[in-house]
Amino acid sequence: MLSGPSPNVTRELTESPDEALYKLFLEPGQTELPAKRVTERFRAAGILSDDPRAKEIFERLEAEKHAGSSLSLGGFIELFALNPSLFRRVAEDSLAIPDWDELCRSIGKIFHETAKVTEGKVAAYIPELARVPASKFGLSVCSVDGQRMRFGDAKDLFSIQSISKTVSYCLASEELGAESVHTHIGREPSGDSFNAITLDSRQRPHNPMINAGAIVSCSLIKSGQSASERFAHVFDTWRRLTAGGDVSFNNTVFLSERDSADRNFALAYFLRENAAFPKNTGISATLDFYFQCCSVEMTCDSMAIAAATLANGGVNPLTNERVFSIDTVKNCLSLMHSCGMYDFSGEFAFLIGVPAKSGVGGGIMVVVPEVLGCCVWSPPLDEHGNSVRGIEFCKSLMSKYSFHNFDIVSGAEGEKTDPTRRKVSVGNARIVDLCWAAAKGDTKEIQRLVASGAKINGADYDGRTALHIAASEGQAASVQYILQNGGNRDAKDRWGNTPLDDAKRSGNRGVVEFFENIQG
Ligand code: GLN
Repeated sequence: MLSGPSPNVTRELTESPDEALYKLFLEPGQTELPAKRVTERFRAAGILSDDPRAKEIFERLEAEKHAGSSLSLGGFIELFALNPSLFRRVAEDSLAIPDWDELCRSIGKIFHETAKVTEGKVAAYIPELARVPASKFGLSVCSVDGQRMRFGDAKDLFSIQSISKTVSYCLASEELGAESVHTHIGREPSGDSFNAITLDSRQRPHNPMINAGAIVSCSLIKSGQSASERFAHVFDTWRRLTAGGDVSFNNTVFLSERDSADRNFALAYFLRENAAFPKNTGISATLDFYFQCCSVEMTCDSMAIAAATLANGGVNPLTNERVFSIDTVKNCLSLMHSCGMYDFSGEFAFLIGVPAKSGVGGGIMVVVPEVLGCCVWSPPLDEHGNSVRGIEFCKSLMSKYSFHNFDIVSGAEGEKTDPTRRKVSVGNARIVDLCWAAAKGDTKEIQRLVASGAKINGADYDGRTALHIAASEGQAASVQYILQNGGNRDAKDRWGNTPLDDAKRSGNRGVVEFFENIQG
């Protein structure tokens, strides 16, 4: 017998959205919300206490925690008002990576495994780099929604060296436009080492990710301004890319770079001889600027935010500030993908399949477009000048997650995990597709879905399988296909009905007979 809604249901229906959100933060059985619980939920979602979007929220929660109190609904609403969209997304687990905690655990394991690798040699061409302990190892990850994690020495400053080439290229492009930049610099991997004295057939450096190209990028940035203005421009850009994170300048590195720069001087004269610079380019001013860009220091933490800004199409996820245009980012990522890892770039694109840029300081900036940015730092280098542990880490990460550019072709059969997917949604989406195909009698589509991994006996919320639906709709060919390919004729929906019951109820005699024939 139908009765009116129970008092409980009535209350649910009249519940305010704030109240509903408040409840999303409660543990089962809890009626009051401890301040600590909100802090934990934010942290588990990857929102850290130095996040500019959540700083005030964390400060207030800290104060409440010390007062030992639970948050009243009113207090919660005030807190919520500080950043409603972030609050909502944390409560609903709808940030870019829904299960951040799980990703942290699994990346943490990979990090600790990679720590066992001890090969490689720390760069020794200047004493300042040679002094960095080989045991240093840091990793930070930042999603396109600003969810962050860090491991090991992620808060130590390291020399960014060639990673600076990304920003120099972006700045030159923003200022002059890509077309004009590429009249001076090519877009082709050189296949040579990063400091090779070589130009392409049009007398341009092969690409902006090697020394020759980066020296030309530097010559193009704010060429009419003073040295201090030009460097301030680069430095300020890194600060914006990192949401004001750790960025500094190491003067000792700069001075020793300049003192041991025969190769870079040779390159610059070679560039001038071949008219590769814009007119009136001063060699020593340009090289100084280039060395200064290489002598910037950052932490894995700050570099990961910069990488996430690139992954996010140029908008910093922590500040929402657009730092570079979409076109600039797209061009930079393309070049990082084909040329970012020196003469290991082709191998890296093949094995790892994402844009990255390394530096001889041992850092690697990795960008997984639309998902996350990460920075791994370990000083010992391989013969190409790439961090040995950095490369190992990338390999392990890509073997577990479907981040490789072309993992897309493995579709549902792929064994890798896509951390951006909500766990329930993947299978469900396929069941819905299968049920629709069954309803329409589109046997080819059923075949395709099954071939790409859909479970033929997958059931929807009501326990209805594709066979139930094909039977109800009188789709004989689909019923036949499903039955011949492992469809379960005894599957019961939530009302206890089997596909045959449905066929009978639909009054489609052909399908009923068909069931009976196959059964017989
Ligand atoms: N400062 C270094 C150089 O110009 C940077 C090279 C690098 O990181 N690969 O030689």
